[in-house]
Amino acid sequence: VYILAIETSCDETSVAIVENGTRIRSNVVSSQVETHRRYGGVVPEIASRQHVESITWMLQEALEQADVRLEELSAIAVTNGPGLVGALLVGVAAAKALAFALELPLIGVHHIAGHIYANQLVQPLEYPAVALVVSGGHTELVYLESEGKFRIIGQTRDDAVGEAYDKVARALNLPYPGGPHIDRLAHEAEHEIELPRAWLEGDSYDFSFSGLKSAMLNVVNQSRMRGEALQSAQLSLGFQNSVIDVLVTKAMRAAAEFGAKQLILAGGVAANRGLRAALAARCEEIGLPLIVPPLSLCTDNAAMIAAAAFLKWNKREFAELDLKAEPLLSLEKW
Ligand code: ATP
Ligand code: MG
Ligand code: FE
Repeated sequence: VYILAIETSCDETSVAIVENGTRIRSNVVSSQVETHRRYGGVVPEIASRQHVESITWMLQEALEQADVRLEELSAIAVTNGPGLVGALLVGVAAAKALAFALELPLIGVHHIAGHIYANQLVQPLEYPAVALVVSGGHTELVYLESEGKFRIIGQTRDDAVGEAYDKVARALNLPYPGGPHIDRLAHEAEHEIELPRAWLEGDSYDFSFSGLKSAMLNVVNQSRMRGEALQSAQLSLGFQNSVIDVLVTKAMRAAAEFGAKQLILAGGVAANRGLRAALAARCEEIGLPLIVPPLSLCTDNAAMIAAAAFLKWNKREFAELDLKAEPLLSLEKW
């Protein structure tokens, strides 16, 4: 079974071909970060236009790299939400055109289901499981009772982790996206400037990062006003320690309460070295298998969309040609 998948939910255009849900034959990714960097974030109109410009040659490139002919494809999958509506529309239109012309089934995929099932490209997932999803737009603890069945048990009440990383990085004059830079600086720091942690109500699995972000921005502004040099590395470490402490503590508690056989990490912030190390250490202590995607599959790519689409292929859950781009698509009803 060859599934061709398309991902255009944000600022990465990607086309992949995955064999039998697990073997990546090609995974072509074209990132627009260079374009958006000068604006300090993603500009939706520009993102859509670049998807339009890239999608055709990327489809050809993905087929060539996979050494698969159009006639050999089994289904066309596409991210139909959540994301920027104009960006999603480009992928959805391309996928529908292909499915119609080739008379192939069309499969709509939730972007976060893709981030979670990126892990299945490396090893089979076991259930029940708990997934910690940390990305530019999402911070969620997800309970997977069985394959493809998601229940959100906690989520951020304000900023997503990646968003908070990018905002504090901007205050430190680091280039966009700032997450990897904060991660690097945190590793260079010898001591931290301690910042607060938002635990919320005792039993809550929700998150909040806006207080931490403000606390950090206050320190930055104060030292600017006093004309002092910014202690970027110490601040980065303080920020990263606060984020990791809360994420890891809540994820471990959820894994225990829900009897998870595996703890799954997913999303762009899963690339964070400090987070990976802290989770690995805590999981090892209690003998809980931790499933972490390889770095290349953490940020947006279409191979993860094909991996999630394979679940729907097995259940023959196909979309009609009126499939819509849904900016707020729900993971529980994907
Ligand atoms: P979503 O998946 O929620 O729709 P998105 O697709 O924009 O959002 P991803 O591509 O999954 O987000 O992840 C991008 C985010 O990951 C950015 O905010 C980036 O700063 C962050 N990120 C990438 N690498 C690291 C790292 N090493 N440490 C911290 N954050 C990181
Ligand atoms: Mg992105
Ligand atoms: Fe993403």
